[in-house]
Amino acid sequence: MRLMSPSPRFPEHIARLKPYVPGLPISALAQRLAVPEDTIAKLASNENPMGPSPRALEALRTASLDLSRYPDNDMGTLTAALSAFHGLSADWFVLGAGSEAVISNAASTLLEKGSHAAYSQFSFQTFGNAVQRCGAIAHVVPSPRHLVDLDGLVRTLEHRPAMVYIANPGNPTGTSLEPAALLRFIESVPGDTVVLLDEAYHEFLPQRLRADSTAWVRRFPNLLVTRTFSKAYGLAGLRVGYGIAQPTLADMLRRVRAPFTVTEPAQLAAAAALADLEFLERTIANNDASREILCDGLRELGIPCLESHTNFVLAQVGDGAAWGRRMEQQGIIVRPVTGYGLPEWIRISVGTQAEMRRLLEAVRRS
Ligand SMILES: *Cc1c(COP(=O)(O)O)cnc(C)c1O
Repeated sequence: MRLMSPSPRFPEHIARLKPYVPGLPISALAQRLAVPEDTIAKLASNENPMGPSPRALEALRTASLDLSRYPDNDMGTLTAALSAFHGLSADWFVLGAGSEAVISNAASTLLEKGSHAAYSQFSFQTFGNAVQRCGAIAHVVPSPRHLVDLDGLVRTLEHRPAMVYIANPGNPTGTSLEPAALLRFIESVPGDTVVLLDEAYHEFLPQRLRADSTAWVRRFPNLLVTRTFSKAYGLAGLRVGYGIAQPTLADMLRRVRAPFTVTEPAQLAAAAALADLEFLERTIANNDASREILCDGLRELGIPCLESHTNFVLAQVGDGAAWGRRMEQQGIIVRPVTGYGLPEWIRISVGTQAEMRRLLEAVRRS
């Protein structure tokens, strides 16, 4: 008799991981509806509807790249650009294939089995997953009115968490904190707790709500700020993000991150995008105008939405999943957030003004 061959064994905290559910791809819906891909409006992943910066595309077109060579492991091209942009030397940066990679990297660096980490309810799933992957204990602070409760996070400090994660603005809520309140919070955190401040949507904030986070990093050795090229810079497909921290912390993060993590083309495009202030301004102006059309239109239709300072809006539609399916039937992809414990809500990315009008028309018809 042949014995049954044994199967792989997964640690319990790994077996409990939930898969990340991305926005439905354009190709999948086009196929399902049997329509051309360019008729689909994807408003599900907070991508830039204007595409990447033309200067980033130009940099890719004109670069003489030897793709048979590994990229420079120090990722000097982009690190130098970031260093000039932020006025901090190269050893304050850690790069990653998306800021998602930097967040996971930070968890792997700072957490181990049994250590503690805190974050708000309705936080971006990446951090919670990373905590679980490390076998650490999560303290999830309730989020009344979909805001991060800083006092609640302060109360978790009694567990001496190794990390506290705050996304400002948050995803999927889109809500943001007053910089002064955030600063008071960081001041109250003991030095052996690292605060990970995820600023994926920083560029969309109005001036008065923008934290001077690089100045904060200069002040606090236990602060890590992450930024991304995926949202306002329109380079989600290239996977580039970075973290800023004082050299001691940044050095440890660089030891843990995978080698060669950002490709040379991605670095070149990101460096060019960083210099393209004109494109960034157009992106923000388009986003503000489109978001106003979207929010005003939804409210007129009796659909409440949270005040957003990002390129997406969280709207209370009743049954989010069913609402999302009705939009899909009309060629529009939006993002249900049931997995975040928000079954009554839907997350809608801010697209072009034409896409916003099309969405509102589809809501009226459905
Ligand atoms: C999109 C997003 C990120 C990271 O995206 P990357 O493409 O991995 O850089 C990080 N945090 C939040 C809150 C996001 O919404």
